[in-house]
Amino acid sequence: MAKDSASSSSGGSGVLSPSIDHPHRARRPLNPGAALSDAAIVSIGLLVVTVGIWWRHGGLTLLLHGSWTEQWESAGALTGLLATSIALIGISLAARTHRFERAFGLDRALLWHRWLGETAALLLIAHIITTVVAYSSYSGFVDAVKQLIGEEQYMAMATVGALGMLLITFLSLGFMRRRMSYETWYFIHLLVYAALILAFAHEIFLGSDLAFDPLARWFWIIVSVIVLAQVIISRWGRAFLSVLRPLTVLSVTPLNDVAAAIELGGRNVTYLRAAAGQFALLRPLTPKLFWQPHPYSISAAPRVDRIRFTIKALGGASELMTQLPVGTKVAVEGPYGTKIYEELRGSKLLLIAGGVGIAPVRSLMEDFDSSAEPVVIYRARREAEIVHLDELEHLAETRKGRIIPVVGRTHELATGNPFDPHVMRSLVPDVAERVVVVCGSQPMIHAAYKCLRECGVASADIHFERIWW
Ligand SMILES: Cc1cc2nc3c(=O)[nH]c(=O)nc-3n(C[C@H](O)[C@H](O)[C@H](O)COP(=O)(O)OP(=O)(O)OC[C@H]3O[C@@H](n4cnc5c(N)ncnc54)[C@H](O)[C@@H]3O)c2cc1C
Repeated sequence: MAKDSASSSSGGSGVLSPSIDHPHRARRPLNPGAALSDAAIVSIGLLVVTVGIWWRHGGLTLLLHGSWTEQWESAGALTGLLATSIALIGISLAARTHRFERAFGLDRALLWHRWLGETAALLLIAHIITTVVAYSSYSGFVDAVKQLIGEEQYMAMATVGALGMLLITFLSLGFMRRRMSYETWYFIHLLVYAALILAFAHEIFLGSDLAFDPLARWFWIIVSVIVLAQVIISRWGRAFLSVLRPLTVLSVTPLNDVAAAIELGGRNVTYLRAAAGQFALLRPLTPKLFWQPHPYSISAAPRVDRIRFTIKALGGASELMTQLPVGTKVAVEGPYGTKIYEELRGSKLLLIAGGVGIAPVRSLMEDFDSSAEPVVIYRARREAEIVHLDELEHLAETRKGRIIPVVGRTHELATGNPFDPHVMRSLVPDVAERVVVVCGSQPMIHAAYKCLRECGVASADIHFERIWW
């Protein structure tokens, strides 16, 4: 297969632009900014109001001084309300609002979403147990269960919803999730919306705190509608818009036997705001791929007329992506990625890439000038896996940087393991003075992080993408 070259325009140096202010560069993403404190204030505010609603209805008094049944009922009411509030905050994070995503990154947002989902599931279990115990004191356990799941239509719906939520949480636990393809897990986990809607009616019409308090009920309805609107506008709206305004495959350049550089352009590219180091969800509008968007990093600083991705065939979808015919329409959702990389300008940089992790590193190289003196450690298992080397060397040369390819299996390396602090210091003597970006597999990120910390790099100066699925 042809190797990419710094002089070819398809997948090559046609995409090299000398500075971030170059007129051919695409408009940069909007930077509305959001602080952790904004998100924390809204979330804590919702939790305080939730507990306040329960308190206002005498929940605390009943919990501390009520009869046995009242104590369990009160605990059931509190856990039910908190489970829903926490689930709503988690869903709001997964809505991927631009403001939040630019501030914290999609990886962090989705990790927090997962933790909140697991917390909500634990509270839901507590809600079910406490409510069953409370009802059992009237008529025994069996009648209590019968009454709770079947006698009221809203309770029957809530039971189905609760079982759905618990099943989805179980399937999302790491050891179960790894047994499924990403798509199987993703589509099952979308059913959580249906589960929440099923549970909603019992909160509004039967819940002791909402059914008889119009103010609390309207607050609850308004918060739920806001979260739903966020999901519809930000999450689904963005995906829908990307399908309405697809880009077109301009070229596919094989880089080795498993990877290709794909350039997308066409008239819709004018809508794109993108920066080096970001990634987008690519959804080729072909019969086999239209239903599964996959994340790929931008591998050359985006230009007004084109954007490039470098794709390695790791599985079925990525293999098909490396073979897309020129002219294929591709919906590009995003791009996503925090503004953090744009804030690194002015720092001396160490960029560590493993395998196809070189894609974001390659594009980031274009964003820095010679004050960055970028050093790139490019880890690959085989010589044939190295891609974009000519472009990287050209960029390093013009930015007083250097590229250090480290090729081979770790135990066979003549230089030794680059993630041994001694080897790292010999490769990059001023490593402790640099800000580091690490892009690659999770084991490599862990090894690099441990080594960098031992070399004296501050944790806040090490940037990487967390695994989110
Ligand atoms: C932020 C980010 C940036 C990436 N950038 C690049 C890049 O520049 N070049 C490149 O070649 N690869 C990149 N990847 C990896 C790429 O997304 C996967 O290789 C691709 O999705 C695999 O899909 P598949 O069907 O071919 O393989 P599969 O065999 O289905 O999956 C292989 C692996 O990819 C994961 N995966 C599959 N689909 C998704 C999805 N929609 N979202 C998240 N993970 C998924 C699976 O869980 C599995 O671990 C990136 C991944 C992420 C999360």
